[in-house]
Amino acid sequence: MSATQTRTGSCLCEANKFTVKGDPMLFVVCHCTNCKRQTGTAFMSNALFKEENIDFTSSQNLGQYSDSKTQSGSTIVRQFCNTCGSSMFIRPDQGKKLTGVWAIPVGLIDGSDTWTPTKEVFVEKKCSFVKELAINSPQ
Ligand SMILES: [Zn+2]
Ligand SMILES: [Zn+2]
Repeated sequence: MSATQTRTGSCLCEANKFTVKGDPMLFVVCHCTNCKRQTGTAFMSNALFKEENIDFTSSQNLGQYSDSKTQSGSTIVRQFCNTCGSSMFIRPDQGKKLTGVWAIPVGLIDGSDTWTPTKEVFVEKKCSFVKELAINSPQ
């Protein structure tokens, strides 16, 4: 990874294209029920970026769902592509402490294949077939 690198990303149909500047603040694997439902799979892998480091390079075609039934109790806004259904940005609701930080599913970001997660959350909800993941906790 490189602190100054700009990476491109998009949804499956490329109706939503964006760039991210620098490395993610965190790379979080989330095993919560809501992330499983949103993605339809065993867990969600999200890279956290400051809003100011995210740029949209095409007009956006996003739908959104205000998810208030989160395990943490904070409402988050889950966005998705209106055309292909890819999970897109997860934003905290206005006025919450993490305002300004967005989570982006790493599968949308070009070159993320070699990244290692820095954190796993809601491990108590982990699917039994998911064994120990490689985690690179920041020191
Ligand atoms: Zn799309
Ligand atoms: Zn989650």
